[in-house]
Amino acid sequence: MKRSPASDPRATTVDPAPALRIGARWIDATSAGTRPLVDPASGETVGALPAAGPAEIDAAAAAAAEGFEAWRRRLPVERHALITRATALLRDRAGAIAARLTREQGKPLAEAEREVRLSAEIIDFLAEEAKRLAARGVPPRTPGVASQTVMRVPVGPVAAFTPWNFPCNLPARKLGGALAAGCSVVLKPDERTPSAAVELVRCFVDAGLPDGVLNLIAGDPAAISSALVPDARIAKVSFTGSVAVGRQLGELAARHGKRYTAELGGHAPVIVCADADAEAIAAMSVVAKYRNAGQVCASPIRFLVHRSRYAAFRDAFVAGAEALRVGPGMDPATQMGPLVAAHRVHEMQDFVDDAIAHGGRVACGGRRLGRPGFFYPPTVLEGVPPAARVQREEPFGPIAVLDLFDELDDAIARANALPYGLAAYGFTNDLRAAHRLAEGLEAGMVGINHFGVSQPETPFGGVKASGIGHESGLEGLLGCTELKLVSVAA
Ligand code: NAD
Repeated sequence: MKRSPASDPRATTVDPAPALRIGARWIDATSAGTRPLVDPASGETVGALPAAGPAEIDAAAAAAAEGFEAWRRRLPVERHALITRATALLRDRAGAIAARLTREQGKPLAEAEREVRLSAEIIDFLAEEAKRLAARGVPPRTPGVASQTVMRVPVGPVAAFTPWNFPCNLPARKLGGALAAGCSVVLKPDERTPSAAVELVRCFVDAGLPDGVLNLIAGDPAAISSALVPDARIAKVSFTGSVAVGRQLGELAARHGKRYTAELGGHAPVIVCADADAEAIAAMSVVAKYRNAGQVCASPIRFLVHRSRYAAFRDAFVAGAEALRVGPGMDPATQMGPLVAAHRVHEMQDFVDDAIAHGGRVACGGRRLGRPGFFYPPTVLEGVPPAARVQREEPFGPIAVLDLFDELDDAIARANALPYGLAAYGFTNDLRAAHRLAEGLEAGMVGINHFGVSQPETPFGGVKASGIGHESGLEGLLGCTELKLVSVAA
């Protein structure tokens, strides 16, 4: 059954059932069945998502190809006007969208609403920046050549794959850059947390985006990527998720000559120097660590604290972690919600059990909470040898590992020892130490004396195994463009 829900541009509520969007149509039933939507705070099924089969995947690529032809011709100022109409709707609907986001993903409602509002900021910045994409004139070296102009043109239809940890923000980064640049999009949000992305798309539809410019499908992730990535109508692939899947899609993209951007997680180190205010940094660190229950790719994981400040830092960190109120995201008192899915709880337990088996100690948490839903407590591990899994693999959950160091160079070397390189943090009031940290830490984003490295205006991306390319900031926009040289002889 196909439908076109009556979309009221002024609505502050959201359509209760998520649907796919292909071309001019909302699709709420397909021959490929549905995927259940589960509330992680209760474990109960709260809805269903129609799954895209081969026909819908093909239709989405066709729609994006058509949409691109219409959208690329619009002037940047026209695109900006339409995009900012959509973000105004997104802000109006932020409360209702946040409630859906929390119901599917689990994070506290206030955190979800901040995510939706930040998504509007990200998209606005990119649309604004696109008005300033200047061409570059290069003086000719050949007599008779009047001009050589290097222009930025949209790369083409983008296939964008986003995970479940930021169900609004990550789609916003991808479609924000693409739409601002003049590209069309086929968005595949995570099947567990699709509603925020569906509602984000609805804001654009209600704002008057031409049909086919923004399409949304979901279903079997591997079936969708293995059809879309090689599809000749798709010009660029953008993925956020695990290193394993990111490499798989990168190989496929390379085989078919597609542009590729990937954001693949990290294992962020935090170095706290001897001169730093250990208690104050521990309090900041608890907030940063347990935000979104640690399901954040730039989440601090390995805390390396100077031996002279270790006890003070540890005591303050553990007290802060133990004081956090864990509960359903819809409860206003909750500071940390459940994990997104049952299997993530088991994975946390495996990380902790493995650390203990290697000789590590649990300073707090470390056992799943005995209540319905997918809850795991804020956990702090100490004395964990480098061979333990949690010291090498991204736990992607509410686990912090505390360690001490004597020499800054040794701490930096240990911070850099893993293949990841997304975010890294250092705390010091010593200017020379700050420069050593900034220069020495191998990461796409280094925060000195704070954790706020992800902003709409700044590029987000990693080095080493953590990814390729950037999103957000000017670089997020440039990643959706291609260079074109036009050389004119008089
Ligand atoms: P996963 O790799 O199964 O899923 C991650 C995302 O990739 C999901 O949205 C999924 O739908 C999608 N995906 C999986 N296979 C795909 C395919 N063949 N084609 C296209 N998309 C595909 O992992 P998970 O269980 O959700 O999380 C496990 C690990 O992934 C975490 O521990 C973390 O390291 C990493 N992760 C990273 C981020 C990030 O922001 N970088 C986000 C989510 C997960």
